[in-house]
Amino acid sequence: MTDVGVAQETFESLDPASDEVVGTYPVHSAEQVGDAVGRARGAAVWWASLGFDGRAARLRQWAAHVTRRLDELCAVVQRETGKPHGDAQLETVLAIEHIVWAAKHAPKVLGTQRRSPGLLLGNHTASVEYQPLGVIGVIGPWNYPVYTPMGSITYALAAGNAVVFKPSEYTPGVGKWLVDSFAEVVPEQPVLQLVTGFGQTGAALVSAGVDKIAFTGSTATGKKIMAAAAETLTPVVIEAGGKDALLVDNDADVAAAADAAVWGAFSNAGQTCVGVERVYVHEDVYDRFVDKVVELTGKVRPGTEYGPMTMPSQLDVIRRHITDALARGGRALTGGANAVGERYVQPTVLVDVPEDSEAVTEETFGPTLTVAKVRDMDEAVEKANATRYGLGSTVFSRHRGPAIAARLKAGMTSVNAPFSFTGMGSLPFGGVGDSGFGRIHGPEGLREFSRPKAVAYQRFPVPLKLTTFSRTR
Ligand code: NAD
Repeated sequence: MTDVGVAQETFESLDPASDEVVGTYPVHSAEQVGDAVGRARGAAVWWASLGFDGRAARLRQWAAHVTRRLDELCAVVQRETGKPHGDAQLETVLAIEHIVWAAKHAPKVLGTQRRSPGLLLGNHTASVEYQPLGVIGVIGPWNYPVYTPMGSITYALAAGNAVVFKPSEYTPGVGKWLVDSFAEVVPEQPVLQLVTGFGQTGAALVSAGVDKIAFTGSTATGKKIMAAAAETLTPVVIEAGGKDALLVDNDADVAAAADAAVWGAFSNAGQTCVGVERVYVHEDVYDRFVDKVVELTGKVRPGTEYGPMTMPSQLDVIRRHITDALARGGRALTGGANAVGERYVQPTVLVDVPEDSEAVTEETFGPTLTVAKVRDMDEAVEKANATRYGLGSTVFSRHRGPAIAARLKAGMTSVNAPFSFTGMGSLPFGGVGDSGFGRIHGPEGLREFSRPKAVAYQRFPVPLKLTTFSRTR
């Protein structure tokens, strides 16, 4: 681990299935965070000097190194989040794909671009150079502790920046593993450093004079970070919460739509920013869809298909949303009033829930799903868009999928497929409204961590006679 100094306090990360202590980590102070950023400044200069090819070679080595030790990383993820092996493997493999994608495409996306100098500068050549920003502060959540921060870290590194990473206080061990593994292939300089602790350590990173903050987490924290970053005019990328909707048209493959809804709602115990939380179904296929969802949900076993809730306080939110929905006329077709246990939550499908209840308006972040009947896709789009969030969305329609997708107020839409298929390297990832702004992944993700610099080069001088313009008028 890149040492950031001796911390005054420590905290423990716990196994959410048993509350056993997984590890003890330092609570880094503002001073220690500042020191890490200071060291990153020097490392950034060295890392940038390697050029695209030098960095790509190191990033590929890192990808190979992580791939060789995949089971070890998955074990750390499982220990701190409680998720099953398959889920841990999925997020680590996707993260490795991002390392490889960013390394491969950075030269093309960020290479110098020639631009037309225009008539007035006809004696010039003009170009845009994409320069690294310098030091990026990455602040991550616990729900996908590898995949989410790596969506920023890999693109920031490929663009030539150094990174100081503050993982969630629930998953510091995963953060340490990632940073240590990078240092094993890039031992020369502290290009990727770890700082650990709670919100205060994250806040210290925001105010430490970094060149950009890439934040993934809740909307409430995103707002605090933006306010703090305004003090130093530090730019931010905010990847925040969601309340994703899935729309089912009357010509849809109903079985596939039900499968996507169940997978989207219950995988990772619903602790997914792009998890499906609301479904709007055309009245012609509503009954068939609901029957299929209930049948598939019957096969979902907490403890096997998904783990315990990683963050215990989320249990109260889930309980409140279910109780409120039932009190206001909603019905639970599975799970329900007693779904929330001490650690695990039974998968809960709710119908007839008023659109203004919290189960429909607020991010639940648990294994619950509301299903509502609509007259047509106009009503479905209107209801899907009636949210302050706008992260992902899904449409199932054989003939009108792309047209419906275009009307959805969301950063990403999957058509006739589970939502996750937009999480690949080449596509930008991000939201609108309270889901945040800025984009990670893909060419947009590489540019997010670069500064376009315009360069106009005069090839031969031409005397500037301002009067020439007035005479030709
Ligand atoms: P959180 O906002 O509680 O914490 C996220 C990180 O911010 C943690 O590392 C935390 O220590 C840090 N933090 C807390 N207060 C801070 C402050 N004042 N200044 C700086 N840093 C601070 O979120 P969480 O509970 O870890 O994650 C769950 C949330 O993340 C959900 O809302 C989920 O939708 C969202 N999420 C979004 C995406 C996305 O890509 N849009 C991906 C995954 C998770």
